[in-house]
Amino acid sequence: MKISLSRFAALTAAGGMLFVSGVVGAAWVDEYKSGIVWPEPPIVAPGETVGAPPADALVLFGGTDLSQWNGGDDWKIENGYAQVQKSSISTKESFGDCQLHLEFATPEVVKGSGQGRGNSGVYLMGKYEVQILDSYDNTTYFDGQCASIYKQTPPIVNVCRKPGEWQTYDIIFTAPRFGDDGELTSPAAVTVLQNGVLVQNHFVLHGGTSYTEAPRYQKHAEKLPLSLQNHGNPTRFRNIWIRENVHAPVGEPPQAAAQD
Ligand code: MG
Repeated sequence: MKISLSRFAALTAAGGMLFVSGVVGAAWVDEYKSGIVWPEPPIVAPGETVGAPPADALVLFGGTDLSQWNGGDDWKIENGYAQVQKSSISTKESFGDCQLHLEFATPEVVKGSGQGRGNSGVYLMGKYEVQILDSYDNTTYFDGQCASIYKQTPPIVNVCRKPGEWQTYDIIFTAPRFGDDGELTSPAAVTVLQNGVLVQNHFVLHGGTSYTEAPRYQKHAEKLPLSLQNHGNPTRFRNIWIRENVHAPVGEPPQAAAQD
């Protein structure tokens, strides 16, 4: 539909009138203010491209060495990636609540089936596994396929790329809390985006993920090393970084608004 210049001018004038009346209106209604004095959010430079580490991230693997990890000597590093070999690896530093980014590729040459195909895993705190598996045209039990929380829940959707293609995980993790008596006071929760698509939406974990046992919690430290699983398949990793400034929503009701 064409709009004549005069008609456009009239519409613009009407819009201006509405805008003015909105401002006037706001002058004599009571504006709600929470009264909470918030600290200014820190300024963080984002990565140059989507997936690149922002300025406040700790880079755990940038493509050249696994010096941030224990066990990495066994892994093959070439062409900017690290490939699983012989052993699982664990970070030298410990982490609790976090945002984690990593990229992985299951083997291009498909071997095996079910759980034996491109199996690895991201073990948050060394205990809570976000499964890595070649789940492209490869059926297994659903709570064990790629992006499942192992043996606790399947992913919302299967958004796996083909074998050999690079994929991303963006994981937001809230660590569990325990009281002095060892009782669980707040469970772990995890949100996962795979290739930019939501596959776990704040899933509340039932406990650690185990191959042999039902999930249960056992008191552990506030922070523990992150590990990547060796399951005997040459899965590759690259661009791994982590942030701890995540303001995990643990156990605190919304703050009451202060009165003016
Ligand atoms: Mg696994």
